[in-house]
Amino acid sequence: MEKSLEGQKTARKKGISLSERAVNIDDDVFKLALGLPKDVIPLTAGEPDFPTADFVNLAAKKAMDSNFTHYTASNGILPLREAISKKLKEDNNLSYDPDEIVVSPGSSPSIFLLLFALADRGDEVLVPDPAWFHYPILTSLAGGRAIRVPQRREEGFRLAPEDIERKITDRTRLMIVNSPSNPTGHVLSKEELEGIAGVAERKNLIIISDEIYEKILYGNHKHISIASLSGMRDRTVTVNGLSKGYAMMGWRIGFAASNAELSGKMRSLLGYTVVCPGSVAQYAAIEALTSQKSREYVKNMVATWTRRRIMVLKFVEEFHDVMSIAPPEGAFYGWINVSGSGMTGKDVSANLLKEYKVGVMPGYLFGDSGKDYIRISYATSDEVVEEGMKRLGKFLREHKK
Ligand code: PMP
Repeated sequence: MEKSLEGQKTARKKGISLSERAVNIDDDVFKLALGLPKDVIPLTAGEPDFPTADFVNLAAKKAMDSNFTHYTASNGILPLREAISKKLKEDNNLSYDPDEIVVSPGSSPSIFLLLFALADRGDEVLVPDPAWFHYPILTSLAGGRAIRVPQRREEGFRLAPEDIERKITDRTRLMIVNSPSNPTGHVLSKEELEGIAGVAERKNLIIISDEIYEKILYGNHKHISIASLSGMRDRTVTVNGLSKGYAMMGWRIGFAASNAELSGKMRSLLGYTVVCPGSVAQYAAIEALTSQKSREYVKNMVATWTRRRIMVLKFVEEFHDVMSIAPPEGAFYGWINVSGSGMTGKDVSANLLKEYKVGVMPGYLFGDSGKDYIRISYATSDEVVEEGMKRLGKFLREHKK
């Protein structure tokens, strides 16, 4: 408590509260992500363009019909934590007891509560640059300071141990990693993960590993959980959820797996804040995680995004004088460098919307290194990708300086 009050004092001195700071940024984002007029081509959405599978909906209906509509244990019902424990073993080579797993209403609140539990006032949290813009906001809301670690753009956004080490001070406590990455689509290789793990061990850091896009991979790219590397289990919190891999964004189910001490802290923080994840959604999640049909469902979504990814890459190639991209290895975003046009990503995002009615995310939101970038999402229809990319290319050429 003391920590957050102190944090508020500092923010007040600057004339802006922590919550105001977050809301200011969100305004920009929500206008683009949710508030787009009907006639705008949306390349902004960070969510699958598929409905939740029928068999998952049916499981939720059964739960409702059986009156499973009351409070549950704050860390989630045991059968769900058992299903997650099995999933972590089979998919990620991780052994976590159901008691070391905490289910939450989405992975985002898990990350916030972890930061709240682990970062004292002024503690430093390493966040790659670029990265999902929630990380630095959640860090400052929890009273910590986000310190950005550059990724090597010319090496496909590699995260190098020496770049991490350079940012470490005696206040550094944590590092957030996200693979596959939003926004770059980079998948951390075993070698990169070993580099990060080495630094974490030498400098006694805890790693928060956000693996929400783990199912969405292209070509031969493989997802490796950093907690599965030797010595990393007890210094990693593996965060994941059902939003992206199972098209269950609105159900709000996420989870975090960590050692007994940390998961105990998380459980009690959850109990006092959100009380428990939605009961019906938890039954839906069990079905999604355990049904054989899920494999087919996920495979079909990824096949669709694989096709659209190729469409995006073709367009970037066609307009190579004004845009470039490191082909995404996972997730469903294109992190497009627009510096060839002579404009910043922010100008492109604002004017493309005004003049050509296409919505894209300005790259600066994801970190200072994103100034020359925009992020597009191809989790939308083929027609929207086709028309949006065509207009983007035309706009950039017309305005080329
Ligand atoms: N992590 C990343 C990297 C994301 O991009 C998102 C959603 N945009 C989330 C977490 C949030 O997922 P959830 O719905 O589980 O809160």
